[in-house]
Amino acid sequence: METIWKQAEALKKELAARRRDLHAHPETGWTEFRTASMIIKELQRLGYEVHFGAEVVAEGSMMGRPSAAELEACAKRAVSEGADPELVARMAGGKTGVVGILDTERPGKTVAFRFDMDCNDVEEDKTEAHRPVVEGFRSLHEKAMHACGHDGHVTIGLATAKLLKENQGSLQGKIKLIFQPAEEGVRGALAMADAGVVDDVDYFFGGHIGFKCTQADTLVTMTDGFLATTKMDAVFHGVPAHAGAAPEEGKNALLAAAQAAISLSTISRHSQGSSRINVGVLNAGTGRNVVPDIASMKIETRGGNTEINDFMVKEARRMLQAAADLYDVKVEISLAGGAPASVYDKELAEEIAALVQEKCGYANVLTYVDMGGSEDCTYFMDRVQKRGGKAAYLMYGTPIAAGHHNSHFDFDEEALWKAAATLAELAIKYSA
Ligand SMILES: [Zn+2]
Ligand SMILES: [Zn+2]
Repeated sequence: METIWKQAEALKKELAARRRDLHAHPETGWTEFRTASMIIKELQRLGYEVHFGAEVVAEGSMMGRPSAAELEACAKRAVSEGADPELVARMAGGKTGVVGILDTERPGKTVAFRFDMDCNDVEEDKTEAHRPVVEGFRSLHEKAMHACGHDGHVTIGLATAKLLKENQGSLQGKIKLIFQPAEEGVRGALAMADAGVVDDVDYFFGGHIGFKCTQADTLVTMTDGFLATTKMDAVFHGVPAHAGAAPEEGKNALLAAAQAAISLSTISRHSQGSSRINVGVLNAGTGRNVVPDIASMKIETRGGNTEINDFMVKEARRMLQAAADLYDVKVEISLAGGAPASVYDKELAEEIAALVQEKCGYANVLTYVDMGGSEDCTYFMDRVQKRGGKAAYLMYGTPIAAGHHNSHFDFDEEALWKAAATLAELAIKYSA
């Protein structure tokens, strides 16, 4: 029988076309209506059991959701661009997560793969130096671009779905393909994890194209060094007053926020590992002669492990409250995103490498790369690992035209079929 590697290679053209369609129609976090609609239809066509909307997205855990008006406008646009209106209606409020299940009804393990679907809030380059312009698949949406490669991830997911269907006889147990909204800003995974989509999973695999592996024809079987992170918004509410006639009647929200910004940067370092804090945005005040009654800031913390990040968050909350108390104003703190760290599983990394070397045709297979950033896939990984399952985060090597999130970003579509073949092989091995 033809190897999966060969079967995947034969899909090369189809995958490039799918990726380019997605690239031209990028959708930002929680608005992936067209993308999800297409995924649902394709999974159903292939014969998967498909769950989506409120079934797989816990509303209370959705972080950083756009306004109702924005969601509505994006849903309309999706329908005008070919999404199924009935499916879009069932994803109302931005519940665009999708889970496809292939149950062999044979005894075995449950193996899950996760693919993120959202784009970046980036205006794509318009010049002839950019391949998507030259080859006609530049983003059709203003200030939205697949600049991280998640168009590639969706493509890999659907190609894996197809390969698994073609090789269903070699599978055991149950396979779950998880398509996740809103990875950018680490906002979407928690809502799907809290909906329980990985609670029955024995083996979990996430992955990314490019990033720390920009070498063609290369696979990294395990990524380490995910930083735990929390994104918070803080809004200070004071009392406005005439700055000349009655300043003593005012309560100054701007000063409280300014004090907080400085205090936050003085949170103690942690002896157990690295930590970060950043106040990235601070807006305050309404007019030159008014005691400012409103100030808002966007903050993020990170930690080398979840405990360190929790420490940073606890200290940040304390300092925000202390700054508010100092100026007698109120502070409202809300969660805008977050992700835990994950545990590097050396044994699994090496086992995957051995499998891939036997079954796939990569020129290079590496077992370790350092992420040095955050990815909310760790919500799933953490949950699976805590329940006794195993998890890995792969990296699919590809040269990139510019860094991730850059308006010139592009990648080599060769990485797509190779990734799909890899995941199909993992499904066969770990479902047994
Ligand atoms: Zn990204
Ligand atoms: Zn990404």
